[in-house]
Amino acid sequence: MNLSCPVCGEVDDLAGIRDGDRITVTCGVCAGSWERDPSPRCGVCDGDDVQGVPLAIVEKGRGTQLSVVGTRTVHLCSVCDADALDRYHRNRPNPLMPDELPTTGPGT
Ligand SMILES: [Zn+2]
Ligand SMILES: [Zn+2]
Repeated sequence: MNLSCPVCGEVDDLAGIRDGDRITVTCGVCAGSWERDPSPRCGVCDGDDVQGVPLAIVEKGRGTQLSVVGTRTVHLCSVCDADALDRYHRNRPNPLMPDELPTTGPGT
């Protein structure tokens, strides 16, 4: 975590108090308190450099066609999900395709 006091810039003397899914942080130097940014974090490395990316919801259509029936937002870490993010940015504005697609059967 790279957390710092927005008032005085202190980075060490900080205490976080969890309240449900919110975290209130108190600075031991200036006694300021603030709510920690509830932005999503990477579940792998706990980094906060994550991006919301539309992920395609793919269903098997008629024949061997796969059809995109919608999107949902997933949060990708710029470190752990670099490959997927790269794919997404190359194919924009198309949504990211999931790693696992519904099987299209033998159909060769
Ligand atoms: Zn402070
Ligand atoms: Zn990560």
